[in-house]
Amino acid sequence: MTRVLDLLAARTCVSVELWPPRSDTAAARLESTLDRLALLAPDFASITYGAAGSTRDRTHDLVVSLQRDRHTTAMAHLACAAHTRAELEAILARYRDEGIENVLALRGDPPLDATTALEDGELRHASDLVELVRASGPFCVAVAAHPAGHPDAPDLAADRRYLARKLVSADLAITQFFFGVEEYLRLVDDLHALGVDRPVVPGVMPVTSVRTLDRMAALSGVPVPAALARRVDAARDDPDEVYRIGVEVATKLCGELLDAGVPGLHFYTMNQFAATLDICSALGLAKRAAARPAP
Ligand code: FAD
Repeated sequence: MTRVLDLLAARTCVSVELWPPRSDTAAARLESTLDRLALLAPDFASITYGAAGSTRDRTHDLVVSLQRDRHTTAMAHLACAAHTRAELEAILARYRDEGIENVLALRGDPPLDATTALEDGELRHASDLVELVRASGPFCVAVAAHPAGHPDAPDLAADRRYLARKLVSADLAITQFFFGVEEYLRLVDDLHALGVDRPVVPGVMPVTSVRTLDRMAALSGVPVPAALARRVDAARDDPDEVYRIGVEVATKLCGELLDAGVPGLHFYTMNQFAATLDICSALGLAKRAAARPAP
């Protein structure tokens, strides 16, 4: 069992984000892709949480099975918008009792806005959840960072201040995906200027299909560079070419991030590992992972 903060201090980590499967078929597919992922031996895997609490048990079960059965350090995502304080306390107590050490404390996307009244003691922001996770056990706590600023924030400066506030208590941040190394460097510089020097792990999403690009950009509000959108659009009828472009672009970004001295690379895999494996192989990271002693 390992805390992600300690892993980041020891080496440049490679990590993956997974979704809990929605059906038996998806579960079987995930098992076979997890077998292939063993080639990469990620330092940790984070497991997403349904914004409305819809994956409460499925997230829990995948976190526990990765850690127990596959000996992979697991990080449980948890979204406070989905739950009452009492529910969050129960979820965290269960993780603590099962030896899960890493939690990504999120707000999630709530069906309420900043003016919606909450009962006394309920949680509105991820920073509130960070405090609750801290009070619930000896967890290593991560938070989300948004290089381009979060879409709900009044402006970038305010979003940076809120992020800095989260990182006073949290151990590390993992970013939303982005497309240019300068976006990451600006985020880290802004945090330094606010007195924060916690590790910030860049999130990388290989664009492996037109559908992925359209869907993720729409969901996250992250602007897609015009040049990339044009290349992908020109190859729209050739899925292999779109995949090749996606891997090429992400490999270049990861190389620049590694040159900049990032603490790790976190891949948004969407439960498909071919691109992550191809990128890591191109960067020599798959071999490095394979050479590491088994836990
Ligand atoms: P917060 O930090 O609470 O910020 C949300 C907004 O409120 C921002 O605009 C911020 O500027 C503002 N804000 C923060 N604090 C304050 C304050 N004190 N006063 C006023 N305004 C404030 N979503 C899921 O549903 N499930 C997942 O598993 C999931 N995983 C993710 C993993 C990563 C690495 C990332 C980057 C995002 C993930 N998300 C996930 C998406 C995330 O939940 C959304 O982006 C959500 O809208 C914001 O979450 P947050 O934790 O950044 O919220």
